[in-house]
Amino acid sequence: MLEVGIPFKEIMYKGLNQGIKMSEIDAAVVTHGHGDHCCAAKDFVSHRIPFYANEDVLSKCGGNPKNRLVHNEMRYLAKDTLIIPFNVEHDAPNSLGFVICTDKETLLFVNDCKFFKADLSDYKFDYVCIEANYDGQQMHFAYEDAKQKNDYQNIARYERLFDSHMSLAHCRDHLKKLNLSQCKAIFLMHLSDRHANENKFKETIFEATGINTYVCKKNGGIV
Ligand SMILES: [Zn+2]
Ligand SMILES: [Zn+2]
Repeated sequence: MLEVGIPFKEIMYKGLNQGIKMSEIDAAVVTHGHGDHCCAAKDFVSHRIPFYANEDVLSKCGGNPKNRLVHNEMRYLAKDTLIIPFNVEHDAPNSLGFVICTDKETLLFVNDCKFFKADLSDYKFDYVCIEANYDGQQMHFAYEDAKQKNDYQNIARYERLFDSHMSLAHCRDHLKKLNLSQCKAIFLMHLSDRHANENKFKETIFEATGINTYVCKKNGGIV
């Protein structure tokens, strides 16, 4: 399970709807310590579901320190599932992205992040889940507008986004550096409500990569 950013009961309920019991989860993995990614961490630990995260998250939720994920240290999550964490640039301590390999498929998972430096060109990804938070043009206009109106709250919000989240253009540039020769699908995550147009995002990434691209909805499902 990747990210546990909604209440445990809700995860349990959504799982049951898909025919998945919590006891069947081999491992839960979290990218960083912001609540919208790890608010159910304590529940996973108390239900004894193997829980993996960086030191910051593990210490806050009382997780097993042995399950600490560190940049470039690969480890097994289950018998046939290997994870390779790598550092990403975000405004939470030790934020990580993941390459996850089973004996059949390889997944790239990058959530909240402005960019990452890891060279992943040796992997052939079957699936990519990546953040594409905002449209640079749209944000630029909103930012200029806020500055003109002395709207300090939004100025600060936009500056935080510029500093910690991935623009559509950055997302596209990262994807272009990957080996997507056998990629079956790209899933765009974490789109801004106000500064991202789902269709434009899908089209831009499809045009740049030629890979079927989907947008993940906030409350589950894809479009
Ligand atoms: Zn975050
Ligand atoms: Zn987030």
